[in-house]
Amino acid sequence: MSDAAATASSAAPIVIERSLPETPLCDVMGGASRWNVPIHEHGFIALVDAMPRLVPEGLTADSAIVQSARVSYGQGTKMVSEDRGLVRYLMRHHHSTPFEMVEFKFHIAMPIFIARQWIRHRTANVNEYSARYSIMPDRFYRPSIDNVRKQSKSNRQGGEGPIDAGTAEEFLQLLENAEANYQKYIELTEKGVAREIARAVLPVSVYTEWYWKCDLHNIFHFLSLRMDPHAQIEIQDYAKAMYELIKPIVPVACEAFEDYRLNSMHLTGLEIDAIRTGKPLATENKRETAEWQEKKAQLGL
Ligand SMILES: Cc1cc2nc3c(=O)[nH]c(=O)nc-3n(C[C@H](O)[C@H](O)[C@H](O)COP(=O)(O)OP(=O)(O)OC[C@H]3O[C@@H](n4cnc5c(N)ncnc54)[C@H](O)[C@@H]3O)c2cc1C
Repeated sequence: MSDAAATASSAAPIVIERSLPETPLCDVMGGASRWNVPIHEHGFIALVDAMPRLVPEGLTADSAIVQSARVSYGQGTKMVSEDRGLVRYLMRHHHSTPFEMVEFKFHIAMPIFIARQWIRHRTANVNEYSARYSIMPDRFYRPSIDNVRKQSKSNRQGGEGPIDAGTAEEFLQLLENAEANYQKYIELTEKGVAREIARAVLPVSVYTEWYWKCDLHNIFHFLSLRMDPHAQIEIQDYAKAMYELIKPIVPVACEAFEDYRLNSMHLTGLEIDAIRTGKPLATENKRETAEWQEKKAQLGL
């Protein structure tokens, strides 16, 4: 094509052809502006939008997964022609992109020590409240006395069971002392100390907020890590609420997620050999052996 022809075609007006839906559509959030779940004393997780937001009446947002998968599989593929079967097949076989066609946007308020864990999930889009721009609200996370946990002996990262009441009270008092800095923070910002530096006196129990948008494939990854008992209980509480918020919108994908991810088990080559031969796991590694014991108990072996 000559340069002259290319210029002529790019100068042509762009025509948008708008099509009306073939069937009536319904809102997957039932017309609501947000679905909110309060978490702990000051936190929340609210679903504020979804894609697809409108789906054919009688269907769920699972239809977007099916629609995109059918581009590659074709309508006529008999083995996977049924929608639920197709979604389950895609989940079982670790297909990712059809699940990425569904997205959810949340508004979340959580303590900064939870936000630190959450932000590690790099596949989401995030916009956070700015403590350089605005004063941090007076909201701090305080566990209930039963939730002041003992350091776990078996899991160096975790806590297990409540510590004795006296020590728990002592800890809660310490938290209260840290929160007392808030008044000074307000006073000093009023005296002109920049908010970006004044915030350094606030403990990580102070709440932040953000909008967090992520596709369903990566939400499932987030949920499988953060609903797991190895994750910190406080972030588990958010993850479980997030799961309840999306379940009515993508029930078929969630059912498949439970069957093939959440309640499934990965077996290593060594573990398969141990089952096959009936011999102990061929490793001296204590952690790996303990993990195998856990799996055997789950399998009733
Ligand atoms: C129980 C638990 C304990 C943890 N403890 C620690 C800890 O002690 N210290 C610590 O630092 N972290 C810790 N983490 C965080 C953890 O290591 C991960 O950073 C976090 O879970 C995010 O996982 P992800 O990278 O798979 O997720 P995402 O960032 O959402 O990424 C999803 C997937 O996308 C791909 N991906 C995304 N970005 C890239 C990239 N740049 N390059 C290549 N692939 C990419 C990867 O396949 C990844 O699995 C912990 C997490 C859990 C659940």
